[in-house]
Amino acid sequence: MTKTAIITGGGSGLGQATAIRMAQEGINIAVVDVSEKGGNETVEQVKTHGVDAIFIKADVSKAEEVKNYVDQTLKHFGSIDYFFNNAGISGSGKFYLDTTIEEIEQIVGINLLGALYGVRYVAEVMLQKGGGSIVNTASSAGVIGQDSVVTYSATKHGIVGLTRSMVAEYAKEGLRVNAIAPGPTETPMVKAFYEANPQMKENATGGIPQKRLGTPEEVAELVTFLLTSKAEYINGEVIRIDGGFTSTK
Ligand code: NAD
Repeated sequence: MTKTAIITGGGSGLGQATAIRMAQEGINIAVVDVSEKGGNETVEQVKTHGVDAIFIKADVSKAEEVKNYVDQTLKHFGSIDYFFNNAGISGSGKFYLDTTIEEIEQIVGINLLGALYGVRYVAEVMLQKGGGSIVNTASSAGVIGQDSVVTYSATKHGIVGLTRSMVAEYAKEGLRVNAIAPGPTETPMVKAFYEANPQMKENATGGIPQKRLGTPEEVAELVTFLLTSKAEYINGEVIRIDGGFTSTK
């Protein structure tokens, strides 16, 4: 039977590249995003690979909208086999004491609460059918400390805890939960961030042993491997994909 994946933040960057890569494996895709334009664009691209795809508009920081994207996916496709829990924002890049409370709440709401809500509702559905596979998007900032991204880093460290602790509770019931920790990758989010903070791009590239940023396609390849049955015995891992960036810290 054809498998189904939900991809949050599927309208751009890592989510869009992964939607297209998973479609090449014959997997149906529910594209979840707050952006209608990006989400619909991804659906069009995914459909050129001969699979079914739908766009569901949702703000992942709102629990009722998360429940709704899970319900809509089930209604349309009948199952949820894979979940790329990926929507996120980077924040302003200011030092912590210069950030507002509103910014802290927004980053935590989307990056951490959004991911927790997603796993809460998706894993429930998966376990009713004997299991499934989840990949959460952490970051280099989720495995090391970094300046200018304190709140973001706190949320991404939280993603690591979510990943490992879910495995402690539910691996025995057939659930696999892994995380990816990408370094700077050339997506619209990062381009916008570096345009606002050009010095940080120079610092970042200079600090990467491979001396270049990653590409969304490279990340999509890893996520597809982790989600699908090719990675059946990999569970609770946080896989770094960063050109050696964090290994030298
Ligand atoms: P992106 O901005 O290109 O894509 C993110 C998508 O998420 C956008 O389509 C956006 O509309 C959507 N989104 C934002 N807020 C949302 C919300 N509240 N509800 C639903 N959708 C929402 O960014 P990206 O680089 O592809 O980032 C994807 C994930 O990867 C994020 O979690 C980010 O923190 C993480 N990440 C990115 C990098 C990088 O260098 N690009 C590195 C490490 C981790």
